[in-house]
Amino acid sequence: MRIDIISCVPQLVESPLSHSILKRAQAFGLLEVHIHDLRDYTPYNHRQVDDYPFGGGAGMVLMIEPIARCIRSLQSERTYDEVIYLTPDGETFNQKTANRLSLTQNLILLAGHYKGIDQRVRDLFITKEISIGDYVLSGGELPALVLVDAIGRIIPGVLSDETSALFDSFQDNLLDAPVYTRPAEWEGHKVPEILTSGHAAKISAWLEEQSLKKTRERRPDLLKDWE
Ligand code: SAM
Repeated sequence: MRIDIISCVPQLVESPLSHSILKRAQAFGLLEVHIHDLRDYTPYNHRQVDDYPFGGGAGMVLMIEPIARCIRSLQSERTYDEVIYLTPDGETFNQKTANRLSLTQNLILLAGHYKGIDQRVRDLFITKEISIGDYVLSGGELPALVLVDAIGRIIPGVLSDETSALFDSFQDNLLDAPVYTRPAEWEGHKVPEILTSGHAAKISAWLEEQSLKKTRERRPDLLKDWE
């Protein structure tokens, strides 16, 4: 799978891609992430990519020309399944969307900045708008990384134990069960006995019961889809 990230502050995106699971996904050739500096596509002097908003008001707006040039240049090389703009007024990102996007081949993620991007980019080039939650960040770079991570880790072959992703919260509309590791007792606090019993079926039943309990307490809204 290939993901192209377009940003006017590409440095913000680089480091998280060079470590841990995302690094491994790329090293295995399962995920390719290409970062594009919007300033490399601008025809304007001084690598300008933003300008004052028509009608006045505070903040700058990313201009259409550099964005259009970048997207068109990518689209001339391959077909993209989606051209996604990260924006607080988009559809809220969730596991179902991550699952669906992980099955695609090529994605463009456009990170906005300042006050946002010229509306004509959204009207003419964007096929999907995604928010990572009801709060406003300074740029779309962190939201783009959230998508790359959520999508990248579930590409088959990326996690060393793929079944672990299947039991993550939200995959089956349940929150994940509590997890423990060594030591089995720490300062008098023991892990639940069942987990050290070696009885696989009972452990599995206990984990599901714990998942259900936690979901009922914290996210009862998820249970209507689970049932
Ligand atoms: N004026 C915009 C508004 O009120 O909707 C906010 C602009 S924000 C300061 C700058 C950029 O950050 C946006 O263009 C978007 O790409 C990104 N961004 C901020 N919050 C986001 C969120 N919750 N989800 C996705 N992208 C976000």
